[in-house]
Amino acid sequence: MTTSGKDILDELVTANHILGNEGVVDVFGHVSVRDPQQPDRYFLSCSRSPELVQRSDIMQFTLDSKPIGNDEREAYIERFIHGAIYEARQDVNAVIHSHTDDVLPFTISDRPLGAVMPPAAKIGSRVPVWDIDAHFGDGTDMLVRNHEFGTDLAKTLADGSAVLMRGHGFAVAGSSLAEAVQIAVFLPRNAKILWQALQMGAVKCLSEAEVAVLRKGRGSPRAWEYWAQRAER
Ligand code: MN
Repeated sequence: MTTSGKDILDELVTANHILGNEGVVDVFGHVSVRDPQQPDRYFLSCSRSPELVQRSDIMQFTLDSKPIGNDEREAYIERFIHGAIYEARQDVNAVIHSHTDDVLPFTISDRPLGAVMPPAAKIGSRVPVWDIDAHFGDGTDMLVRNHEFGTDLAKTLADGSAVLMRGHGFAVAGSSLAEAVQIAVFLPRNAKILWQALQMGAVKCLSEAEVAVLRKGRGSPRAWEYWAQRAER
């Protein structure tokens, strides 16, 4: 999925605005992109709410999430989610972290979250849940505040597109900003629909075979264009 002839930093600003406008992130949450010129670096805003992010806010980081240069602006505490996923996954070029309410019930209960409809198929038939206390014990503040925590999260993500975080939120990994944004927009919608259906009785999610067919799709370039225009209006 290509988006436009604009450069990657403009695209990252647009991704921030789309995610804010579509309600995937609010005060908190963030989106990054791998540096296409230097794949061992990535771009992410300084600590600011995504809807407010401008091009001048963007910082560059190493994969262990140290800022490049003498950039002393405050960085997001949980930037390690991004660096660790890029380090673990050569195929990933964009990462999103969000705390969307509709996803939270599936991070704290035994009910698995799986895709129920085609636009959400890339989340897979069972999104894994990362529990910070499984490896780092009871008594953390739940935040991915170092590279070691990020690396552990990336292990639970494995080769998937999404990972839930217990009592916290989720992270999404995509081959492009457009793909990651599309997954991050549909993951909470899918969670809400599944939760609603569960109130009605038994549910039938997409099967493994349906997910396998749908995951091969590249997604629709129309989605990015539409959301970007809505966000910048
Ligand atoms: Mn968080």
